[in-house]
Amino acid sequence: MKGFSQAAFLRAAGRPGDLPPAGRPEVAFAGRSNVGKSSALNALVGRKALARTSKTPGRTQTINFFELGEQALLVDLPGYGYARVPLPVRNQWRELVGAYLRERPSLVGIVVLMDARHPLTVLDRQLFGWLSAARKLVLLTKADKLSRAMQKQVLADVRAELADAQVLLFSSVTRQGVDECRDLLEQWLAAGRAE
Ligand code: GDP
Repeated sequence: MKGFSQAAFLRAAGRPGDLPPAGRPEVAFAGRSNVGKSSALNALVGRKALARTSKTPGRTQTINFFELGEQALLVDLPGYGYARVPLPVRNQWRELVGAYLRERPSLVGIVVLMDARHPLTVLDRQLFGWLSAARKLVLLTKADKLSRAMQKQVLADVRAELADAQVLLFSSVTRQGVDECRDLLEQWLAAGRAE
């Protein structure tokens, strides 16, 4: 599929009513603020700044939709868990992301990014509990910060705990896991088109 190299911003939704109508199959990305989500999206589409990497974590509170050619969408959910975000913004996050995750028939799978150095935080687990998407992939980000032995250990631990998800080590810096991740998402989206 050529789509990943043709990724283009489609629109941002700040409220449930702003979500574009469901149509083409889409894959959503979720994770704590600063986990490396924008960097991962940029690495996957081979662009420097499709998704903006944030200097101030937790400020983006929109769901951003990107087209992959005509065929599919990538969806960047706002990051969660940044301590200094005020309560109303946190509630807005829950309302927006909750509505999206509950009501999106075109969502074929979800990618949850967790920092490889401290995966499965309380909020990561909460999010996982909400997910009904059939396909789940966990990316253990910033894997370049861990030794090979630590990488192996964390991969085994997370795989053991999240038996219904696929789990990959990932680094936007070394590009570890980038091709595997893109291959898997292409499979999901192709299967989604056939469903
Ligand atoms: P987001 O808030 O989840 O979108 O995270 P960003 O992509 O903006 O990244 C947050 C910070 O982590 C930035 O300083 C990035 O340079 C850094 N970062 C992102 N991915 C990696 C990675 O794979 N390895 C390392 N070492 N740093 C990363």
